[in-house]
Amino acid sequence: MKIFAKDTWAKLAIVLAILCLFAGMFKLLFEMKYQAVVAAKRSDLQIAASNLDLQLNFRLVALQMLATDSEIMSMDPESIERELVRAVKVMGFFNAVVFDTNGNFIAEGIPARHIGQVYDQQSFAKVLQGQSVISGRIISSDLNSAYISLRVPIENAEGEVIGVLVAGLPINKIDQFVEQKFTKEKDYIFVLDHNARFIKHPNLADIYPESEAYLKYKDLFFKSSSGEIFDVAIFDGVEKLYIYTTLEKAEWRIVSATSKKLLYSSVLQAMIPDVLLMLLLLVIIGLAYRIVYQTQRYKAERENMRVDRLATVSLIAAGLAHEIRNPLTAIKGFVQLMARKSDKPAQPAHLHIMLTEIERIERLTNEFRMLARPPRPPQYKQLDLVSIIQDVILLIERQAAEKGIKIQFQAEAAGQDQLFWPILVDAEHSPEGAFCVRGDEGQMKQVLLNLLRNAMEAIEVGGNIRITISKKEHHVIVAVKDTGTGISQEILDQIGTPFFTTKESGTGLGLSLCLSIIQQHGGKIEINSVSNVGTMISVFLPEASG
Ligand code: ADP
Ligand code: MG
Repeated sequence: MKIFAKDTWAKLAIVLAILCLFAGMFKLLFEMKYQAVVAAKRSDLQIAASNLDLQLNFRLVALQMLATDSEIMSMDPESIERELVRAVKVMGFFNAVVFDTNGNFIAEGIPARHIGQVYDQQSFAKVLQGQSVISGRIISSDLNSAYISLRVPIENAEGEVIGVLVAGLPINKIDQFVEQKFTKEKDYIFVLDHNARFIKHPNLADIYPESEAYLKYKDLFFKSSSGEIFDVAIFDGVEKLYIYTTLEKAEWRIVSATSKKLLYSSVLQAMIPDVLLMLLLLVIIGLAYRIVYQTQRYKAERENMRVDRLATVSLIAAGLAHEIRNPLTAIKGFVQLMARKSDKPAQPAHLHIMLTEIERIERLTNEFRMLARPPRPPQYKQLDLVSIIQDVILLIERQAAEKGIKIQFQAEAAGQDQLFWPILVDAEHSPEGAFCVRGDEGQMKQVLLNLLRNAMEAIEVGGNIRITISKKEHHVIVAVKDTGTGISQEILDQIGTPFFTTKESGTGLGLSLCLSIIQQHGGKIEINSVSNVGTMISVFLPEASG
């Protein structure tokens, strides 16, 4: 039997909604973290660019100061050479040379690395106009002799340019200026001159000389002075995120390259704490929902149990009045008789009848009180099911009789445990304590009353309700069989679902209450029914030794 089913869809919808919400939050979080990771990369690049700028600038300023030295300004080769030898030593230059304004060689610091001509005429021309500039990459023989040159004008007292002071800085020096933390394989920085030739790259030796295929990417980094390029694989077939910016003094680009894989994995790593927090939140929401839902359900159940109990009580109340009137009439008659013949002692037979009738009234009112009372915590004790069933029949037989329904109660004869078809005898004759279970008396009566009520309600007029009690495999079985409308297969599937009813004034709780009580008692309920023939509901309960 299904206990739930109705709200499964609602639950599924809620779970789906929460999942969607979670996915949405995840996406948002991913985007936020992605932005944060890229922003961190950009700021790292900016720091590297500033450092490089600082290093170059510092050397450029030193050269500018040197250019104002009187020995240099004299343009006398010998005095110039003396100064240049010193400068090269102090500042780690590749070589330092002075040219005149026509580009003719005047003097140099290291004759062994003789540089007799001007490379990069374009920047040379700028110096002649009084600017200090930094050239692109210059290679005289191979990468080991590759350098860039810092150029400052030499001016006379009138401010006219009379020569150019040029100092070469080996590109491996520049490599040292850029922070080391960028030299990882999947995450590094490279520097390009204005022709997109490499000045610094962690794999420069492998890349040099730059291939034609590479040079076609040149413009990528020169569209603007700074920017981002995504999804391009330039050298190694690995798609990367490139972030680039320009240096202050040189028309170079300093670029950070991060492989997509590394990028995403750092984004995911950054997300871990937040995702954990989200999961925790989800668990808390789930728990809160469960608590709220369960309290609501519990409240609804209690409320409906009350309604169901009231329905049972009012059914019995009407009959109860009749039930009490009859013995009262009898008692009244005897008392009147006694009052009239006050001189004679009362007859023992009359007194006996009066007592029996009074006891009957007592029992009836007791049963009624128990049902009308609100539920209390169950109290388990040894119960004799036969006497409990007899009590319940007492409560209901009046209404049954009014509808022309006969109630029959039979018990399996002792010692018949193994037989397939038990031999039944009138329950009155069954020995006391033959069918014992452990349970709560009030709940057990409630179950039987509900089953009997349903049986009576299923019979329109005139019929039979047969209650049998038997034993099988250490279980006591109480079966309530009626000759009512029966239950169609369609309805059978839904029976026991709380609030399922086919009756206009039904609560749909009787059977679910029975189910929950019997389950708590370690038993089960079976339903057999044939439409238009009748229904048999069997309650199985673990036997307690009498
Ligand atoms: P209610 O009696 O308030 O409708 P129940 O949970 O007691 O609620 O019963 C649920 C439904 O099961 C009933 O509405 C009826 O359709 C069906 N039912 C239960 N017992 C019987 C029976 N003995 N014969 C026919 N139908 C029954
Ligand atoms: Mg009912």
